[in-house]
Amino acid sequence: MSTPDLHSASPTPAPALRRLSDVTWAWMQDSDAWGYSNAGLIASQGQALLVDTQFTLGATRQLLTAVEDVCPLDAVGTVVSTHQNGDHTWGNQLLPQAEIITSAAGAAGGCHEMGPDQLTQLCRSPAEGKAPAYVVEHFGHFDFSDVTVIPPTRTFEGHEEIKIGGVVVELIDLGAGHSAGDVAVHVPDHRVVFAGDALFSGGHTIVWSGSVSGCIRACQTLLDTGAETFVPGHGTLLDRAGVAAVRDRLQAVADAATSYAQRGMPLADAARLIKTDHAGTWAHPERLFTQTAAAYTEAGIDGVPSGTWAMVEGMAALTP
Ligand SMILES: [Zn+2]
Repeated sequence: MSTPDLHSASPTPAPALRRLSDVTWAWMQDSDAWGYSNAGLIASQGQALLVDTQFTLGATRQLLTAVEDVCPLDAVGTVVSTHQNGDHTWGNQLLPQAEIITSAAGAAGGCHEMGPDQLTQLCRSPAEGKAPAYVVEHFGHFDFSDVTVIPPTRTFEGHEEIKIGGVVVELIDLGAGHSAGDVAVHVPDHRVVFAGDALFSGGHTIVWSGSVSGCIRACQTLLDTGAETFVPGHGTLLDRAGVAAVRDRLQAVADAATSYAQRGMPLADAARLIKTDHAGTWAHPERLFTQTAAAYTEAGIDGVPSGTWAMVEGMAALTP
């Protein structure tokens, strides 16, 4: 392989802190590219909660500069990590005063996450093959220098209600779906949900956990809150119809994949067929491999690959 140009694939989103109600804001990247995650802010009466940080220290500093237009940074006493992927947690060290909350399942899954040094190494010295090239294409332009992974400081299970100033905030443990344990942050009086990667907007959902049924259930749980505004982990804001569309496409893929599994079709063939039939116009149709593999796992098929690298290899194999 030739030496990769580490900056060739750099998209240039222009994130902004968007006010959703008088106490809620969304940090929107409006991007379906890997690694450009949305975040959230709830601020009231001198207290603030941040939903997720960013992939790099530079991107998190940009977020925190925008937060300072709303409240002083030392008011941010709580960070809720929607899950443990680096694009939502690798800026945690810039909020040393904050309690970092996630679900017990999410925290337990964190030990399987790829670290910043490992990802940098993969991008700088890629091996031959489609999977390393895929990683370089999508992650090679990020600078993870000086990132120290800060794990959660407190976990919860089920539902937990907390108060930020005068605002009631509900933390919802969604269980395994996108990741080993996803969390949503619901602000009931303002009908806002920060969904993390339980929702992707404009791009296909990636299933790291092996449970596509968990992803479908999570979408329904989000709708059951009665909220009207949903901040996805990636992409543009969603309304209720948008969340239902994500759920329904996941269900259609799961149904098709289960049928292929029951007929004994090899996973790679099923993933290719599903990409042809279900890609639509959403970005990253190669992620349909991860949904197909999860459906195969849930159908009880032996030998289905699992784990981060197996998913990357499966996705890369579906790219042109
Ligand atoms: Zn993400």
